[in-house]
Amino acid sequence: MTTQNTDILIIGAGLAGLSAANDLQQAGYKVLVVDKGRGLGGRLAGRRIGEATFDHGAQFMTARETRFKAAVAGWIAAGVAEEWYSSYPGQPNGHPRYRGVPTMTGIAKHLAIGLEILRATRVDRISQQGNEWHASLDNGETVTAKKLLITSPVPQTLDLLNEGNIQIPQDKQARLDRIDYESCIAVMAVLDGPTSIEAPGAIALEDGPIAWISDNLQKGVSKIPAVTIHGSGAFSAKHIDEDRVDIGQQLIDAAKPYLGDAKVTEYQVHGWRYSKPTILDDAPCMLLSESTDLPPLALAGDAFAGPRFEGAVQSGWAAAKTLMDADE
Ligand SMILES: Cc1cc2nc3c(=O)[nH]c(=O)nc-3n(C[C@H](O)[C@H](O)[C@H](O)COP(=O)(O)OP(=O)(O)OC[C@H]3O[C@@H](n4cnc5c(N)ncnc54)[C@H](O)[C@@H]3O)c2cc1C
Repeated sequence: MTTQNTDILIIGAGLAGLSAANDLQQAGYKVLVVDKGRGLGGRLAGRRIGEATFDHGAQFMTARETRFKAAVAGWIAAGVAEEWYSSYPGQPNGHPRYRGVPTMTGIAKHLAIGLEILRATRVDRISQQGNEWHASLDNGETVTAKKLLITSPVPQTLDLLNEGNIQIPQDKQARLDRIDYESCIAVMAVLDGPTSIEAPGAIALEDGPIAWISDNLQKGVSKIPAVTIHGSGAFSAKHIDEDRVDIGQQLIDAAKPYLGDAKVTEYQVHGWRYSKPTILDDAPCMLLSESTDLPPLALAGDAFAGPRFEGAVQSGWAAAKTLMDADE
């Protein structure tokens, strides 16, 4: 059995994990990121069906805070992001919406440059061994680390902590138990012709089973007509454990008024059980090891600094700083 040693182990190569990893590595720490997914970016997800390409997780980002705005400007300069739109029919001008180039995952791939990342590798168990963390990976390897950052959705993080018999202070346990997420059923449908969706190629809906439809051809993501349909929180919660083909068809039927004369030739469905947090913690990250005998352990992700792309990045940055300051 192989054992790797690192200063800081980060579970999750989503936005929070990658953002933290960059700051920590730049500060001189040896960092290892492990993600169970084959791709990078977590909920920044893309998929191909034949010639069609889809953003099927996060669709865009907005930028409000100074450091994040500077990061977006850097990604635009690097060619991995661009402004998509700032208003669409029926909606007044709002914050600019930025998209990843060529897809949303382009930004995650950019953030991953120069980092040591184990992909398609799940952390099955974590345990405290003296003043270190041990993580057992599903490939049979073990990682030992002086400090640990976990960025999975909080219910999954709690499972990992429980299975490792990690004692959580009661006040922090109560804060973590409060956090909640909505689900999202995402349909990726290939079309035989263009949609009737007006520029910029996206519609947010208030009522009914659909929350969002995005035309990946107009967006510049796909070479051929292809739509992403996101079920509403209520619809997705009700149907997430049902047959995906049937549920996908229901959402496609509901999307028909927006598809013009185009017919769906093929579709796939993905269920995001933890899509966006609906109840968040007040702090930008959580130092779980504070006032305990645990080696430094922090939690980060969009459930801490804001239920969106920008929040996940800011939470990662906050956790990096917290871990730098935490005594070993
Ligand atoms: C359908 C959908 C639409 C959205 N639309 C938008 C939008 O338009 N704009 C916006 O700003 N935000 C949007 N969001 C939210 C945005 O995607 C998230 O806020 C952000 O990506 C969260 O990043 P994160 O790093 O906190 O978590 P994640 O991206 O979930 O990263 C966590 C990572 O941890 C990994 N992981 C978990 N457990 C383990 C384990 N045991 N071992 C190894 N790896 C593990 C996962 O594979 C994952 O990659 C959307 C989300 C979804 C799902």
